[in-house]
Order: sequence, then C-alpha cells, then structure tokens
Amino acid sequence: MRKLEMEEWEKKYIIKEIKRFDQINTMTRRVYADPAMKGSLEDWSSIGEFKEDPAGHTQKDYALRWSSRIYHAVISILNMSKPNPSPLSKVIKETMASSAHTLSYTYRSLDGLKIDTSDPEIITRDLKKAAIFYGADIVGICKLDRRWIYSHTCNKEVGESDAVEYKPQEIHDGFQYAVVMGFEANYNMLRYLTTQIGGAAQDLASARMTITSALVTAFIRNLGFQAIDCTIDDVAITVPMAMQAGLGDLGRHGQLITPRFGPRVRLSLVITDLPLVTDSPIDFGVTEFCEKCKKCAERCPSEAISHEDRTTEPVNISNSTGALKWPMDAEKCRMYPAKVKHPCDTCVVVCPYNKPDTVFHRSVRWLTDHVRWGDPLYIWADDLLGYGNPKPADNFWEKWKPVRGI
Ligand code: SF4
Ligand code: SF4
Repeated sequence: MRKLEMEEWEKKYIIKEIKRFDQINTMTRRVYADPAMKGSLEDWSSIGEFKEDPAGHTQKDYALRWSSRIYHAVISILNMSKPNPSPLSKVIKETMASSAHTLSYTYRSLDGLKIDTSDPEIITRDLKKAAIFYGADIVGICKLDRRWIYSHTCNKEVGESDAVEYKPQEIHDGFQYAVVMGFEANYNMLRYLTTQIGGAAQDLASARMTITSALVTAFIRNLGFQAIDCTIDDVAITVPMAMQAGLGDLGRHGQLITPRFGPRVRLSLVITDLPLVTDSPIDFGVTEFCEKCKKCAERCPSEAISHEDRTTEPVNISNSTGALKWPMDAEKCRMYPAKVKHPCDTCVVVCPYNKPDTVFHRSVRWLTDHVRWGDPLYIWADDLLGYGNPKPADNFWEKWKPVRGI
C-alpha cells in the first residue's frame, strides 16, 4: 500500500472540471422530486412482503432488519446541523426551542470557550480516538474539497403533499476539514444477502454510522468549534472525500474499497472548522485489480455496473461528471430492490476484497497489491473457493451465534 500526494491522486482521478453535483439528481431525491421517476414503481421503500419461501424472510427476519435501521431513518431526518435542514427537523427544533429544558439535552453551549488548538496533531489524535470510542471502525481526515458539496439541496416538505424544498447550498469558508468515518457491516451476516438477515447487517452499520456521526458532531461543538453532520450523503458526496482522507480506493461497483473491510463499510462525513492534520490518499492496487475482475458487473442482477473501462461520461443524470470512474446506473440499482422486494448489495458480497480482516486474507491482499501478474489467479481462486456465494438462511435462528466484527 502506497500513500499518494494529493497531486498524484488528482492526476489519477480528475481529468475534467468537476461541476458541483445537485442533490435533486440523486436517486434518494429523484424518487419524489423527479416527475420522470415518480409513479414508475408503486413501492420505493423495498420493505417488501413476506415470501412463500420463509428462509431469511420470516417475520422474525424482517424484525431483525427493520429494527436495525430505525435510528438511521429518524436521526438523519432530524439532523439540524446541516445548512439546509429538512422542513420536519425545523418544526421539531422550533418545538424543542419552546422548552429550554428539552433543548439543554440536545446541545450544551460552552459560551464560546474553545479548546487550545496550538497543536493540531494532538487535536487530530484525540478526535480520532473519540470517533472510534463512539463507534467508528476507521477514521481519516482530509481538507474540505468543495467540489464534492452539493450545489443545491432537496428536501420533502412536511405532510402528505409532493412539494419539495429546493435551495442552493453554501458552506462558509471557515469549514476547512472533513472527518470521514467507516462502519463495518458484519461479514458473516452479510453473506445471507439477499435475505432480510443480510439486510440487517447493512442497516445496523448504517444505524451505527448515523449515531456516531451525531456524537462526533456534538463532540466537536463541545470543543467550541463548528461541525456539520453530513450523514447519508446529505450535504456532500462522501466517497471521493473518503478516498482523499486515505480510507480506501474506488471499486468498479462505485463503492469505496478499504484495506481492512473491503467494500462492506458505510461511510459518513462531518465537516468542521476545527484545525486538523490531514491524511493521505492510498493506492493498494484496486484500480488495476478491478480492470481485470468484473465479478460485481457479472453478478449484478440489474446490470447496473459497467463492464467497460473507466470514463468521465455519465450513464444518466444521477452520475456526477469530471472524475474518472466506472459510472453506475443508479436508476437500475435503486429500482431493483423495490421490484424484487428484498435487499441487494450483491456487488459488495461477491467482491474479492470482501473478506474477514484475518492474517491469511491480509496476506492475500498484499499479494494482490504487489504481484500484479497473479490477478487472474486470485480471481479464479476466489470463484473456486465459493467466496461471495450466498449462505442459505434455513435454520438461521437455531444456528446463529452472534459475534461482533466478523
Ligand atoms: S446493489 Fe445490487 S443492483 Fe445495485 S449495483 Fe449492487 S448488485 Fe447491482
Ligand atoms: S468485484 Fe471485482 S471488479 Fe467489482 S469492485 Fe470488487 S474487485 Fe473490483
């Protein structure tokens, strides 16, 4: 694994001008804000129905999954730290503001008192420790690159109407740094995808991400500085900033691939004016490996992943342009789980980088980084050993021995 200078990173990925992406073109917003999308599916929620085949889709399995994600949905809607918070969060904030007692639980003002920042190395060390304590599995810091901040935000109005609140978004110049955090989805549980059990692994990682990001945001504010919680790509595009912060590299499936957890991480972002020390982007051979592999593209059930070379050309309006990557058809990917009514993430599960963080797999990862001619052999062996094949969920509850981390 090699650390890159930012200039090297730019040269590898940015070959055209990056125009700030508009949040209204993300699939999470297009489902209610784009007339071409609305009505194309009856149910966007992918909650699904109980199936005749009960393995992985029983009421207990649904309960496991949908309980995992409850705070993810609620906390992200209530995020008041964003420049353009959701209309619902503003209503709640006003209600809470009417009770000084209630508000005192949400944010403790320290009367402008700021922590000593004469040594940003120490601040950065301690902030990373706090982030890990609060629940992050990996943490990196980068300069806030404003090219990844959404030009506009789009939020649903309160109530049943289809109205949206659509506004330009600016982050003032004082915000100079981004804290990027990764949250591992449990490897063994993820192997039950595409059942609700596998979905629980993804959603629990998302819930941990949402809670930890809120705590890190509060921690920075209690140090006397400003912080914006950008959880669930709500203020900016997270993957390029995670790359700049040295958490990993971009895979063909459009996900960040990390050295320790491969692509099975959820990513969050907190931006701040707290002075910090940045990390460097890393290169551990992902681009070259993905050029040969294509396993995610071959196994994607909706054919959303490119088989071609990297390009700056978009597939549709949901792709940002200017950066060199394998553009993903987000329309197909978002519609697929809603059509089949079960979670997917097949691309993450089958990815040869999706392995437990053990000595053996770390050794193989070292080989994939250093012995390039062996790429076809690694891919062949990965298939031969059956990695990425879904695990049958029959008798799951009888056999399950929950362990954190693997
Ligand atoms: S989540 Fe599923 S549908 Fe979407 S890109 Fe991955 S494999 Fe394809
Ligand atoms: S499955 Fe293969 S091609 Fe796809 S992201 Fe993983 S390593 Fe790259």
